[in-house]
Amino acid sequence: MLPVCPSCIAQFRRCDAGWEKRELAAGTATGFSLFWYEGPLRQAVLQMKVQGEFQLARQLSSILAESVRSLPMDDAPLVLPVPRFGRQDPGHHFPCIASAAVSRELHGEWTTALVQKVRRTQLQTKVSDTARLTNVADAFAVPAEVRQRLCKRTIIIVDDVLTSGATICAMQEAVLEAGPNQCFYLTLARSRATIGLGF
Ligand SMILES: [Zn+2]
Repeated sequence: MLPVCPSCIAQFRRCDAGWEKRELAAGTATGFSLFWYEGPLRQAVLQMKVQGEFQLARQLSSILAESVRSLPMDDAPLVLPVPRFGRQDPGHHFPCIASAAVSRELHGEWTTALVQKVRRTQLQTKVSDTARLTNVADAFAVPAEVRQRLCKRTIIIVDDVLTSGATICAMQEAVLEAGPNQCFYLTLARSRATIGLGF
């Protein structure tokens, strides 16, 4: 018995149609979010994060990977999960589980070795909308000695939920310094929550 049943999955609302350049609250990025972060999908993500249901993470990862298979991709990508600060167990971190599934589907590779989270940040869910935009700025880095491995590659940055795009943009900034051919983001879900920028 899978953690999320087919009738719940049928209620997940599809978000993006394909890779597209988007104006996010935090900046411009090209990517794809599979579902809207609402209803049964939101419940599933919360369950996965709070209760640590890793079987659920694997199920949602394979749904994400299958949907990505049909999206055009020029060459085998290098898939990079958004890292946590400090040590992480790749088997218990959704971005890693999803990166493994997606890279398998696209005949690419994935690794946690190239991008480091260089400082601890508050959980994005615990800071105000405007603080989200600066909370993760400069939080990620690609060490000089591994930059070569990203150079001229197609990179896909993977995370669970996109809200302001602050995390994706901060990660993208670190990746772009290494001179990739192109850089995409991929998230399971996108929140409709609007970010108050004071105008
Ligand atoms: Zn169900």
